[in-house]
Amino acid sequence: MPDRAPKPVDRQLPTDEARDLISLVRDIAQHEIAPRAAEEEEDAGRFPREVFTLLSASGLLGLPYDSECGGGDQPYEVYLQVLEELAAARLTVGLGVSVHTLASYALAAYGTKEQQAEHLPAMLGGGLLGAYCLSEPSSGSDAASLRTKAVRDDGHWVITGTKAWITHGGIADFYTVMARTGKEGPRGITAFLVPGDAQGVSAAPPEKKMGMNGSPTAQVHFDGVRVSDDRRIGDEGQGFAIALAALDSGRLGIAACAIGLAQAALDEAVAYATGRRQFGRPIADFQGLRFMLADMATQIEAGRALYLSAARLRDAGRPFAKQAAMAKLHCTDTAMRVTTDAVQVLGGYGYTADFPAERYMREAKVLQIVEGTNQIQRMVIARHLAGPETR
Ligand SMILES: Cc1cc2nc3c(=O)[nH]c(=O)nc-3n(C[C@H](O)[C@H](O)[C@H](O)COP(=O)(O)OP(=O)(O)OC[C@H]3O[C@@H](n4cnc5c(N)ncnc54)[C@H](O)[C@@H]3O)c2cc1C
Repeated sequence: MPDRAPKPVDRQLPTDEARDLISLVRDIAQHEIAPRAAEEEEDAGRFPREVFTLLSASGLLGLPYDSECGGGDQPYEVYLQVLEELAAARLTVGLGVSVHTLASYALAAYGTKEQQAEHLPAMLGGGLLGAYCLSEPSSGSDAASLRTKAVRDDGHWVITGTKAWITHGGIADFYTVMARTGKEGPRGITAFLVPGDAQGVSAAPPEKKMGMNGSPTAQVHFDGVRVSDDRRIGDEGQGFAIALAALDSGRLGIAACAIGLAQAALDEAVAYATGRRQFGRPIADFQGLRFMLADMATQIEAGRALYLSAARLRDAGRPFAKQAAMAKLHCTDTAMRVTTDAVQVLGGYGYTADFPAERYMREAKVLQIVEGTNQIQRMVIARHLAGPETR
């Protein structure tokens, strides 16, 4: 077993309040999240709802949003470092907070004052959990071709269709749903806030996944779900723009989670390498492993710097979409490489469930896929460089 406890990441934080926040998060991560992570991710998995209730009660489920609406008024620079700490303890929790923040974005950024006053406090600090519904069985990367329909009916909308791969599908208290209200393509889509217990909302059994078993991912069916017009977020036809704006910020969350996961894998690898002896010496003495650890640490620091620099642009109100795509691409590729190398450092033990390295490696894979695959991130970056494709 490891004999070397990792040092906490030395963070640059802008305020004393932010430093207190990170201390609180580390305390929760260490005592309430990490100890049960391995056991609860096994086999069918168990979603730690009580952890989310605690995070909400501690003011940690609405950090980047306005305090007038129940948020924490924190800059992205701080919120993302909180996510990183949570993901290092358990990816299901870090990613879950990131998805909840993504699901809250439409209302927080595009809702009317009345809509925000009515719904946001419960979403950001009232113990509710959100889900973001863009993907469908036949539209993933090509999300603008979605087919779920919303049809006007006497001051209401009737939503019908199936969303796929929905994180928190079946357990969410609210769903932010992108549905077609007009013509084909991105301009025919509108965003809605649908209560989880609305009549006609149901979920398929959770997908059986490679990892992240504690985080339910399921198809969600909307079978003639009737919502009033005051649950429409933004203008008719604005839904795809809202969905993409949410993803620009959400990708920073995925980047931060990826770095947290990679950091956990590096800490595990260092602890093991300094404790395990071969040829009469700790394996951490061998240059082959020392260089591997050095490369892992360097990639992590570079990823952290990249997501923080994108976050600081966002906090300054400047464009950050290209940098968010770069951060998502780089940090999630880093997480895949570092977690794979961590398994290698642990040798045969790395391939067993006795150590978390193999779980980290399985979990890292999903981060290269969600919120736009890394191929899609490259398309986004290239469009900023060379303009849209000509065809
Ligand atoms: C665990 C998990 C949780 C998820 N949570 C959510 C959620 O909460 N809400 C939600 O809406 N969605 C969610 N998703 C869906 C996720 O966003 C999609 O899986 C992702 O966008 C890819 O879509 P797809 O799976 O349909 O793959 P496809 O779009 O079919 O892509 C298949 C492959 O083709 C590549 N490809 C596609 N188009 C291009 C192109 N133009 N150029 C180059 N390569 C291309 C892709 O990169 C990929 O490698 C989740 C997925 C998973 C696995």
